[in-house]
Parts: sequence; structure tokens; C-alpha cells
Amino acid sequence: MSSISGSCLCGKIYFESENKFTSFHLCHCIQCQKVTGSAHASNIFTEPDNIKWLSGQELVKRFDVPGRTISTAFCAECGAPVPYLSLDNKSLIIPVGCLNGTPEIAPQDNIFCSEKAAWYEQAITAKCFDKFPD
Ligand SMILES: [Zn+2]
Ligand SMILES: [Zn+2]
Repeated sequence: MSSISGSCLCGKIYFESENKFTSFHLCHCIQCQKVTGSAHASNIFTEPDNIKWLSGQELVKRFDVPGRTISTAFCAECGAPVPYLSLDNKSLIIPVGCLNGTPEIAPQDNIFCSEKAAWYEQAITAKCFDKFPD
């Protein structure tokens, strides 16, 4: 079984997981828009113990939305999203962007699409450039 590493933006938080994931959802709910500052969250779900924190675990700050089953975790130093346990402790949720490499699972679905950002469809068909346009 291969493993894959992940880290936050400043690099102080570093972890490793087995590249063995159970699901991969793109969540368009309003809370995930707040969490990511973007159109949707891209989250992988795996077994709760599928993580080895290699550094910076003391910097992990968790936030549970009161009265909801929505949580997030981020680096106290740089604010980048990092893995966290679901509230029922049944899954480890890994924000895919923190992985250093490509997971062995493809996105399976888009969820909470009724809350999709109004600009999302335009975003995915907008012109592409390899850098800031001139
Ligand atoms: Zn950081
Ligand atoms: Zn969501």
C-alpha cells in the first residue's frame, strides 16, 4: 500500500496517510463555501486512524459549527485546512488540497448542489491561462 503525504501552507503541519480512501465528495454547501473561501470543498473520507502526524499537530485548531454536523480544522499559523475527525468519529476527513500528490480515488460526486455558488457554472467554463492574463 502506497502512502501519500500532506501539509499546510506554511509546512509546519505535516502528515502521512495510506493512499486508501473510501470516498471523495465535492461539497457545495454554504458552510463549505465559508470554510474554503471558494465554490466548494473537496474532501476525501478515510478510516479514522489513517493518519500519522509527523509534525505540527499542536498547531491544529478545530472548529465545530454549533448545532450542526459541520466541522473544520486548520493550521493556527497559516490558516490552511488540515485533516480532522468527523463529529461521530467514524471518518477522517482530508481536504484534498493539502495532499502533496494525487490520491488514488477520483471525485465521485457533487453534493448539496442546491446551495451551489451562483457563479460556479461560469467559473468552470471560464477562459484558462497558465498565469495572470496580460
Ligand atoms: Zn501552516
Ligand atoms: Zn459542505
